[in-house]
Amino acid sequence: MTDFTAINILLIDDSEDQLILIEDELLQNNFQPTIKRVCSAGALQASLEQLVAWDIALLDYRMPGFTAENALSIMQHYAAHLPVIVLSGQVSEENAVKMMRSGANDYISKQHRLRLIPSIIRELRHSQQRKEQADVELRLRETEQKLSVVVNAAQEGIFLLDADFKIDFWNAAAEKITGYSVTEVYAKRFVDLFLPVELQVACGQKLSGSKAHPKEAKILCALEFSLRMKNAHNLMVEVSISSVLIKDNWTGIGIIRDIDKRKQLETQLKLLSTHDPLTNLMNHRELISCLNQEIKRAIRYTTPLSIFFIDIDDFKKVNDQHGHQVGDAVLINLAELMQKSMREIDIIGRYGGEEFLIILPETPIDKAAELAERLRALAAAQVLELANHQSLNTTLSIGIAAFNESNKTLERLIGSADKAMYQAKKLGKNQIYWTEA
Ligand code: GH3
Ligand code: MG
Ligand code: MG
Repeated sequence: MTDFTAINILLIDDSEDQLILIEDELLQNNFQPTIKRVCSAGALQASLEQLVAWDIALLDYRMPGFTAENALSIMQHYAAHLPVIVLSGQVSEENAVKMMRSGANDYISKQHRLRLIPSIIRELRHSQQRKEQADVELRLRETEQKLSVVVNAAQEGIFLLDADFKIDFWNAAAEKITGYSVTEVYAKRFVDLFLPVELQVACGQKLSGSKAHPKEAKILCALEFSLRMKNAHNLMVEVSISSVLIKDNWTGIGIIRDIDKRKQLETQLKLLSTHDPLTNLMNHRELISCLNQEIKRAIRYTTPLSIFFIDIDDFKKVNDQHGHQVGDAVLINLAELMQKSMREIDIIGRYGGEEFLIILPETPIDKAAELAERLRALAAAQVLELANHQSLNTTLSIGIAAFNESNKTLERLIGSADKAMYQAKKLGKNQIYWTEA
């Protein structure tokens, strides 16, 4: 079966014979031509303005009252993409070149008519290729526009680094997070500009190292740090940098996330899970975990370690006589006193209701006893002023124990200190109690 290709031809020629000739030739070559012939500037312009999808124009070089150059210029103006083949009798090479320069795609002398059909086929193919190429380019441009909108609408800061690790792209979110505009950071090295000094060398090395394996697209550094914003505030951010090859050039892709709120929440949660909300001292669980660590340290470095088990004397009476709120105020007051009067290295926590534990690293029991006595005396001297000009004084019983052969587990150490505290109670309260190992 013969497969005919429909083709719309605009023939610019003063001779109707030409039209018949060309139609014949095309039919013989399996085309199904629709040919419109025009031979004036006005008719050509009108044809190009019609909503006809012309496939190709064939242009006679010599027409009365209308030149091929004139026709080419009209076509350049109205349908620059339309392929044009100039047909002519004898023409100088110079004029042929001129035609081609004015937008003709091919030039065929009437002596070489046999070249016409192959030329039409070739020009149609080229025109199709140009159309496809233009389509692809249009779609690429559209995708680029979409990407640019997406990148600039992103909540994460996005930046690109060139092969010298200098910033050459900086999106709107990066501007918002850091406060620096693209003009302020352009061509500056991200690492030097934003990273804290202690991270600069390591990150710089990772970026440099990635150049040896440029095809491996992987995250080179993922960092959390406090970024100094343009307004001199610090903001916790997470930055990750990976690398890709773009047109054979190493390119770093960076993402900046504002994690300040998350970090604040994490800190709050951590504090809530490790501290007692009333006194702000460490809670029971955290105390135990710290004591475990201190025991390990004491074993590893063979350093002394002591603890206090502290219980408030007659605390029930405080609650009964003055109310629970006053009881709470006493707990807060004593917690503050312990924090103020103990050493920096001592670890203070609320063990339970009105019981406290203090861990004294690197402290032998006799030194611990001195410190306990000082604390007891300070507490006994502290007076809490109440409403109605009343005042309240609370005392402590403190049991002291040291980590040693007889107290070589956490449970036994606490047990011994607790027992010592009960001895202090038994002996009349407001005192310290300890025994030499
Ligand atoms: P002792 O001298 O023998 O230790 O007598 P005490 O009254 O202190 O002894 P006890 O352990 O029987 O009483 C502790 C009281 O502490 C009981 C409880 O109601 C109170 N308490 C525990 N936690 C809190 C708290 O968070 N706030 C207040 N106001 N009271 C508390
Ligand atoms: Mg008690
Ligand atoms: Mg008590």
